Amino acid sequence: MEKKISVIVPCYNEEESLPIFYEEINKVMKEMKKVKFELIFINDGSKDRTLEILRELAKQDKNVRYISFSRNFGKEAGILAGLEASVGDYVCMMDVDLQDPPHLLIEMYQTLENSDYDCVATRSVSRNGYSFFRKLFTKWYYKIINKISKTPIVDGARDFRLMSRQMVDAILSLKEYNRYSKGIFSWVGFKTKWLTFENIERVAGTTKWNFWKLFAYSMESIIGFSTVPLLISSIAGILFCIVSFIMILFIIIKTLIFGDPVSGWPSTICIIFFVSGVQLFCLGIMGQYLSKTYLEVKNRPVYIIKETEKDVK
Ligand code: UDP
Ligand code: MG
Repeated sequence: MEKKISVIVPCYNEEESLPIFYEEINKVMKEMKKVKFELIFINDGSKDRTLEILRELAKQDKNVRYISFSRNFGKEAGILAGLEASVGDYVCMMDVDLQDPPHLLIEMYQTLENSDYDCVATRSVSRNGYSFFRKLFTKWYYKIINKISKTPIVDGARDFRLMSRQMVDAILSLKEYNRYSKGIFSWVGFKTKWLTFENIERVAGTTKWNFWKLFAYSMESIIGFSTVPLLISSIAGILFCIVSFIMILFIIIKTLIFGDPVSGWPSTICIIFFVSGVQLFCLGIMGQYLSKTYLEVKNRPVYIIKETEKDVK
């Protein structure tokens, strides 16, 4: 029986990369003659001509589908929308900037067809083209999250992967609002084969990430996949109780021996500042978890669709 692969491609302001990507993926599709394809592009509230290009592609090519959001919801929302819309036996996720080489799809498909793997995922081994700080930050991020999260997060893992329908359905059964795909893919389990490749620079356009966006994203993933930060406040609490107890004992003994001349104002202030700093820090950690819980409880949709290919066909 003929198998179908759904390719999910999130696009945000990608008018330059999109035509190049379409050409490349077509080459791959031509090589894989035995397989049917659907290309699902997600227009994540682009402000350039991305949507017009998608409309045009959908008109010409019956394999092209697109989902256009009412505003920018972020790549995670795009991935979810694509997964929900996909009907293929296998589902692939790919960036439009060709940082995920489309020709790997052939090897991925062969692996899934001829073995008992449920998923072929990719990781890039180098970080060429990343700034010094991004490299350093990324390295530390993976170290920390793998120490404190029970779900392994593979260093350098990309979202580029091909998955079986069964795995996709498992991913869709996770209804959380704060979605961190790398964690979710790992959490659902299944047998995954890893392919590695050298990091490739984007063909056109610019990256949508800056330092603060990455920082916020990494914090989100830590909060989403670990409760260890909450432990920090408990431990800090206990530690400070012990220290203060020792200090009280010291002062009582000192007063008994030397009397009680008023002194030590600067040290008192320092201690007050330090302790309130720690308290605010711990309160902040709780606040982070509370805010995530708040967003989950509100139960808002992850994305809102404004237009799909059905509107042009
Ligand atoms: N993207 C998206 N919504 C966003 C930001 C990015 O759909 O808000 C898409 C983008 O068009 C690209 C992919 O996600 O296809 C990866 O983005 P980018 O290349 O900027 O990230 P990087 O490769 O630098 O991590
Ligand atoms: Mg990219």
